[in-house]
Amino acid sequence: MRPTHAPLIFSVLLSAGTPAAAQRFHDHDRACHAVHPTLPGVELAHACWPGENGLLTGRRIPVETLDPETVALREHLANRDLLRGSVPNRIDIVFVGDGYTASQQALFHSDVDNIVADLFQYEPFITYEPFFRIHRVEVISNESGVDNDPTQGILRDTALDMAFWCGGTERALCVSVSKALNHAGAGVSTDVDQVVAIANTTKYGGVGYPSSNVCTSSGRNSAATQIVIHELGHSLGNLADEYTYGGPTTYTGGELGPANVSIYSQAQQVSQERKWWRWMGVSNGLFDGPVGTYEGGYYSEQGVFRPSNNSMMRSLGRRFNLPSAEELIKEFYREVRPIEDATPTDADLAYNDTLFCAPVQPNGHDLNIQWEVNGQIVFSALDQTSLDLSTLGLDPNTEHTVRVTVVDNTPWVRDPVIRDLFLTETREWTVNACTHPGDFDGNEELNIFDILVFIEAYNQQDPAADFDANGLFNFFDVASFITAFNGPCTR
Ligand SMILES: [Zn+2]
Repeated sequence: MRPTHAPLIFSVLLSAGTPAAAQRFHDHDRACHAVHPTLPGVELAHACWPGENGLLTGRRIPVETLDPETVALREHLANRDLLRGSVPNRIDIVFVGDGYTASQQALFHSDVDNIVADLFQYEPFITYEPFFRIHRVEVISNESGVDNDPTQGILRDTALDMAFWCGGTERALCVSVSKALNHAGAGVSTDVDQVVAIANTTKYGGVGYPSSNVCTSSGRNSAATQIVIHELGHSLGNLADEYTYGGPTTYTGGELGPANVSIYSQAQQVSQERKWWRWMGVSNGLFDGPVGTYEGGYYSEQGVFRPSNNSMMRSLGRRFNLPSAEELIKEFYREVRPIEDATPTDADLAYNDTLFCAPVQPNGHDLNIQWEVNGQIVFSALDQTSLDLSTLGLDPNTEHTVRVTVVDNTPWVRDPVIRDLFLTETREWTVNACTHPGDFDGNEELNIFDILVFIEAYNQQDPAADFDANGLFNFFDVASFITAFNGPCTR
């Protein structure tokens, strides 16, 4: 009964036979991904590694399919904010080590910490650092160091089979993808978005397997650790390589999928509102720029444009450019929802309750919060994490709709569609109308008919009229009814 009169009251892994491990991984297009057409079950990963002058280079390297062996997950969390926020609402990066013996695990720990520190020195990873969880998995190798280090032909018995000179290139540092994934717990934990395999070495090298969300790095070489950042550009941001090595001199195909490469010139982009047209001419000291269309990228020297002259997707040590940052932030928000926690939407709410809504918290800025009641913005509660309904003078007797909208208004996202689809989240609640005990006929109005119907029921000794519920019909039932009729609405 709802009386109306009175106030009431959340790579596709390597080819065929993809195990469950891969399902959790991002399934976006991979810039470097290719599957050999004649060898089912064998993937040729396009790995990116640092060349002689800092510019990146790449090659296709065959990698095995994931074997179903599951290694018991021994998950260690690095010294990050593990208690902040709800556990699933994060981007999970899992570090596994190779060539670290049982007595070298402390070294593994400190190598991970140093790489993580490097990662969070580049925007937008600085600002969105709280969106990440970093896991360490101690993997014990029988021997210290990895294969072909420092020179070819030196072989070691290690848990993940990491090796330099992969595919004949010294700086290409490979790993057994299946072993890396297994040790990372990709088959048994849903909290695996990116796996980083680090080698117990100072030698400069690294590669990435974008389709498996696995990359490698030297444990103790700051230049090589930046491969990790570059690979996160691929795996988290779906970003293309902006270097010009490895493909035809002139690209002649259609428009490219990744956000940071296009066949369209600046004038074409602007006039046709394509790709990074909103960013043309923009400079921001935190990102590579100014933004324009620079010819060369996606492995070709001509026929493809990139957003800035140089960037992290072209050479190590550079910053990302703004269009890449926008795409990264979009993908961050594919994993991390803006509302961290809130009053459950199925809560039984009354007109005088208090609702709460806690957004995720990037570094340096807050998300914006807007509350609406029955479609009207509650201006007094703008950017407040709670809304006390009792201060709003709501009619207790009617149902109300409360909605909260949380949005990240970062200036590093300009596309309103991206903001609406990914950086915004809403929740809506229904505040129930109060049930008045004096509404005896249940028509949601209090009037003489309730009294008349009560008297009739009393005379008939209808159990509904046993208002004090003691099995007797007497004056106290009448008194209880009159008190209730005159009293306030209860829940
Ligand atoms: Zn790359």
